[in-house]
Amino acid sequence: MKTFPMLQEVEGFLAQRQGLRIGAKHVDTKKTLHVINPSSGELLTSVACASENEIDLAVGVARQAFHSGPWGCMGPDQRSRIIWRLADLIEKNAAIFGQLDALDNGKPVAIARDVDAIYSARHFRYFAGWPDKIEGSTIPVNIPDRLNYTKVQPLGVCGLITPWNYPLLMASWKLAPALAAGNTVILKPSEETPLSVLYLADLALEAGFPEGVLNVTPGYGHEAGNALALHHDVDKVGFTGSTQTGRKIVKASIGNLKKVSLELGGKAANIIFEDAHLESAISGSFWANFSNNGQSCTAGSRLYVHSKIHEKVTEGLIKLANSLKMGAGMEDPGNDLGPVISESQMKRIFGFLERAKDEGAEVLAGGVKDERDGWFVPPTIVGNVSDEMEIARQEVFGPVLSVLSFEDDADVLKRANNSDFGLAAGLWSRDISRVRRIADSLLAGTVWVNCWGETDAASPFGGFKQSGYGREMGREAISLYSQTKSVWIA
Ligand code: NAD
Repeated sequence: MKTFPMLQEVEGFLAQRQGLRIGAKHVDTKKTLHVINPSSGELLTSVACASENEIDLAVGVARQAFHSGPWGCMGPDQRSRIIWRLADLIEKNAAIFGQLDALDNGKPVAIARDVDAIYSARHFRYFAGWPDKIEGSTIPVNIPDRLNYTKVQPLGVCGLITPWNYPLLMASWKLAPALAAGNTVILKPSEETPLSVLYLADLALEAGFPEGVLNVTPGYGHEAGNALALHHDVDKVGFTGSTQTGRKIVKASIGNLKKVSLELGGKAANIIFEDAHLESAISGSFWANFSNNGQSCTAGSRLYVHSKIHEKVTEGLIKLANSLKMGAGMEDPGNDLGPVISESQMKRIFGFLERAKDEGAEVLAGGVKDERDGWFVPPTIVGNVSDEMEIARQEVFGPVLSVLSFEDDADVLKRANNSDFGLAAGLWSRDISRVRRIADSLLAGTVWVNCWGETDAASPFGGFKQSGYGREMGREAISLYSQTKSVWIA
């Protein structure tokens, strides 16, 4: 197997034990996070691991930077320039970010570089335009001789907790609006993928962020994550992860009633109507589920196909599944898919498949562990699935697509909406009346029509139902990280 040559900077980064980034310091800890390469199952490197004490230290530093540092009194133009410079630096170092995420997460290096890193840079660039547009208003109040106006102000210290599926990108989705709104932050990345965001913290200092504004503290969820969610001096927790952990965050937040926003799991329904353009519906629906190896909160993992075209669509999906190239993140030339994140996740996925078979489902493609080292699960298509089965109701978060059949619009809409989740949904049809009717009625924060997976820093993103609350992008993300003050002057 040929692999991309590792960049010198990446080699150097991995060779050195990385400390937490608190203020301008690299802080080492007694505890260690062992970072595993999912493409081989081998140890990649070890980094410092935050516990309650280090979280407390980081919160103190972030508080100090919020109240007394230059960040708070900086003009919006200067804040914009710093955020813009960070976007430039991410773009300039996209190859390094690409390799760090490919090694740490397993995703193909070209995707990590050209999608994750470049979209992260775009995200910072979009939010760099916000600081001088965060306006209040003058309110025409009824009391005479009073001036009433509003000011939109930052919340203070924000704890940001992120998952492993897009290590750099999910962090950027939170960091960019939180910083543009003027907060200071402590980012707690997933224990599985701490590397790219540690590197990001170094670039943030180079971009000109004052010390203590952007802190990064890798650690375990039940320790470092929980300490952040509990901390009395944290004003807000922005969380992306599973619905189960989201509940724990809400519970932990009640001590000081900190603000919480949640981007949680999904079980997206994707519907192919009989009038769809079949070729694009088949490949679009395939990638709706399998991009990022099915490890996406928006994965279209419940595919409803009209009975008239069910056989043809299923055949097309199987053909695509069997033709994909799967391999290590750093393999050259690049692959379509990498491994899943960990051995436990791989076992969890096969557990879902075993139970689905026991319930009467049929594995039509994939479903068997690949022989090579590392945590490889081939793209798996499951047929004969009914709505009640576990595999149609719970988030698998891996390369597994369930195919179901339907007869009419009202029936499929009811079934699509019969889920605890509501993050994303989609449909394929050429009938504009049907498109509008169904898109309006799907209970999901994002609906894609004749496409899937598009996001943009300017367009709001978030969940209905148990997929969370708050919207991460666009102007709504600024509201998520700020608060409005009403001022009365006699
Ligand atoms: P997870 O919930 O296990 O972990 C997410 C983060 O929470 C990690 O940093 C983890 O260390 C931390 N954490 C775990 N327990 C904690 C606790 N008790 N207190 C505080 N923090 C804790 O999720 P994951 O396995 O890393 O990611 C996969 C999940 O993320 C899926 O459910 C997926 O749908 C969801 N996700 C959602 C979105 C979205 O935008 N809605 C995006 C990506 C991923």
